[in-house]
Amino acid sequence: MFYISNLCININISSMKNRSIIATQKDYNVEKITKIAIAKGDGIGPEIMKATLKIMKAAGAKIETETIDVGEQVYLSGNSAGITDSAWDAISRNKIILKAPITTPQGKGYKSLNVTLRKSLGLFANVRPVTALHPFVKTNFPTMDIVVIRENEEDLYAGIEHRQTEDVVQCLKLITRPGCEKIVRYAFEYARAYNRKKVTCMIKDNIMKLTDGLFHTVFKEIALEYPEIESNSQIIDIAAAKVATVPENYDVIVTSNLYGDIISDIIAEIGGSVGMAGSANIGKNVAMFEAIHGSAPDIAGKKIANPSGLLNAAVMMLAHIGQPKVADRIKNAWLATLEAGIHTADVYQESVSSKKVTTEEFADAIIERLDSNPFKFPVSNLSKGSGTITIPEYKRKNSVKKLVGVDVFIDWKGNNPEAIGNNLSEIKSHNLKLKMITNRGVKVFPNGLKETYCTDHWRCRFVAQNAEIKTTEPHYETVEYEQVIALLSKLHQNDFDLIKTENLYEFDGIRGFSLGQGE
Ligand code: NAD
Repeated sequence: MFYISNLCININISSMKNRSIIATQKDYNVEKITKIAIAKGDGIGPEIMKATLKIMKAAGAKIETETIDVGEQVYLSGNSAGITDSAWDAISRNKIILKAPITTPQGKGYKSLNVTLRKSLGLFANVRPVTALHPFVKTNFPTMDIVVIRENEEDLYAGIEHRQTEDVVQCLKLITRPGCEKIVRYAFEYARAYNRKKVTCMIKDNIMKLTDGLFHTVFKEIALEYPEIESNSQIIDIAAAKVATVPENYDVIVTSNLYGDIISDIIAEIGGSVGMAGSANIGKNVAMFEAIHGSAPDIAGKKIANPSGLLNAAVMMLAHIGQPKVADRIKNAWLATLEAGIHTADVYQESVSSKKVTTEEFADAIIERLDSNPFKFPVSNLSKGSGTITIPEYKRKNSVKKLVGVDVFIDWKGNNPEAIGNNLSEIKSHNLKLKMITNRGVKVFPNGLKETYCTDHWRCRFVAQNAEIKTTEPHYETVEYEQVIALLSKLHQNDFDLIKTENLYEFDGIRGFSLGQGE
């Protein structure tokens, strides 16, 4: 088990290892100095980090910083991951990272540092709260207040891609049950701890019935454990449109990696807060806090960058490390500064702003207000929180797994499905028979439509010779793996260019593979 404690409206996590030391506010020793790794970043990174550290120091944050080398210079020195070994060491020592945005150099071969950090450190949840700051920050949606909880480690971001034929490349979408359970439970626990009313799941399981289907199934299972929280599911395409037009209807959103990436950017954009929002990447042992924006090279060195995104990330971090009072002090001073109309150029508006300030002046204005509260916005009261987020250890179920066939992918340059279909039907191998062929997922043999466009990538499904395909589960006869190997050998001898195979399994009698369109 590990526990994540909530003391704040943004996020407040503690990587406590057993229940006896669940963190509550009174448990925290706020006198204790917490060591954190800081990455000053590129572009505007060093300017906004300087401002953020200055505010934290003035507010009394008990932190000791260790600077780590990541980003552009590291990339350009020939390190394709953008992070040095000593930075990894510092992260393992400190466990908490406050990171300013970095610049990924143009060109091939540079790996995304963020993806590397998230996946290597097991930062499974990306938490991005976006609250409208109307009228001080322009938005068409003055009451929107959304938290996106995005799965951070799986999905198409596994980065497993292959070119298989002249015409075809593929990217594997990996969704796991433990990954779904962790992120969905985290979303409901977050909603409970922060007194949020609704969790919306966004998926595309009308098309991706197994992958997105699993995410949706887990969502529905876990939602039952939180009857006091409203839950609903939406197909991601209409959900994206609705988020952009009626964001007030959303509260907490939980979704997989790619959809979450897109949705959270839409929400930050319509909230008017690309330069304002912070985010947290939460793992079992390590957590990383950062602004949502990039390194803004266009304004680097001009002293006009808005430090609010990184400052909000720092507020989330302070609550996380058990310094919610300091976090409140900063957040309230920041809100009071915005309400006083003291704004950096990116949010400055004649109608509501009183003064356009530089990064440093903005930081100083916040420091001057460290004992003030906002009058319009709700006062931040993170130190009143006491919730605890509990994510149980994953328990694997042991299903009965049965091999029932194989999909053999073949590179073939012909364009007549009947030709390859008849050819493959002739091949008799150890009691396996061709059941169908699809091209880009559409059945083209037997009985395909001549209108279907065929590329050089043929998925040929083989099942047991005498397989009686029943309408009820289980559908298929058992196949031995030796039969598959013999089939592949025979196909190879017959000059078929085999690209890859996917075994077809049933789990507890339930089909573990999709049907071809038209199968
Ligand atoms: P960006 O977010 O850096 O900039 C987009 C626009 O927003 C620019 O006009 C910029 O001036 C403005 N802006 C951003 N932050 C601001 C702030 N704090 N104050 C005032 N204005 C601000 O996005 P981009 O231009 O697409 O990316 C620039 C670089 O940042 C790229 O190298 C990209 O790879 C990198 N990047 C890094 C991260 C990260 O480290 N987490 C995230 C996104 C992009």
